[in-house]
Amino acid sequence: MGGVTSDNPPGVALRRQLRPQLPSPLTEVADEDFARRGLRLLLKRDDLIHPDIPGNKWRKLEPNLRAALAAGHRTLLTFGGAYSNHLRATAAAGRLLGLPTVGVVRGDELAGKPLNPSLARCAADGMRLVFVDRATYRRKTDPDVLARLDPDGDAYVVPEGGSNAEAARGCAELGRELRGAAGVVGVACGTGGTLAGLAAGLDDGQRAIGFPVLKGGFLGAEVERLQQEAFGGPRGHWALDDRFHAGGYARTSPELEAFAAGFEERHGIALERLYVAKMLHGLTTLAREGAFAPGTTVAAVITGTP
Ligand SMILES: *Cc1c(COP(=O)(O)O)cnc(C)c1O
Repeated sequence: MGGVTSDNPPGVALRRQLRPQLPSPLTEVADEDFARRGLRLLLKRDDLIHPDIPGNKWRKLEPNLRAALAAGHRTLLTFGGAYSNHLRATAAAGRLLGLPTVGVVRGDELAGKPLNPSLARCAADGMRLVFVDRATYRRKTDPDVLARLDPDGDAYVVPEGGSNAEAARGCAELGRELRGAAGVVGVACGTGGTLAGLAAGLDDGQRAIGFPVLKGGFLGAEVERLQQEAFGGPRGHWALDDRFHAGGYARTSPELEAFAAGFEERHGIALERLYVAKMLHGLTTLAREGAFAPGTTVAAVITGTP
């Protein structure tokens, strides 16, 4: 696979090697729930950025990969649950760039069992999987725990879910790509890193709405913290709508499932269920409720693939 050579600036080498489709496509869909209210609906197809590192995982990982390479790190170490899209994307990036990767997986009960398809993909991409018990996982970034996971101390550590200041700055590019294109932008939120960057990249007349897929109400503070770290203070106009998580991560409801199946059928696009379907359900409900002024263009960020 070649690896990244040191005579190329890391960022240039990265895009030359990985060939992301950027800016990602922006396409209009004719949707009755929006048209009826005098609204347009656009899909920001971040899911098409890269086949193995799709959506916001590309936007968050790329600046971290650059930072890792620039600082001379050879190994990437990160964390996730057994079905983490972030772990999969990191493993794929490692394979494509010739960098060793370590994935610290929550739950030591998984060790020694057959790998689920997501973790099998990580392993096939060369990721070394380390299963840790939940108590240890909670302390995963404490120095003593990290020292055990990375005995040589030379790994570049990407946080769980991939959200840090670098990631938020990477997602600001998503906002900049949407300038002038929409009044309102909807995005699904896990850690909030994508929303933090998106809102920072939009211009003053635009606003972002985040739809948390987890229950808990902690996300607003997290987005503020990430903006502080990445940009030195609050940026852009954003809000959260907490009504569409359907009970929590990976939970669903008959209403959500009916909405997702109907949207797929009407528009011929398969929806990722854990994040994207919840966000589109939220935006569509807000449109039906009359939350957007007639004439508004609404952009939905398709952050990942099914
Ligand atoms: C990881 C992920 C998200 C969550 O992004 P955050 O930056 O953690 O809020 C959203 N959508 C998809 C498809 C994802 O895989």
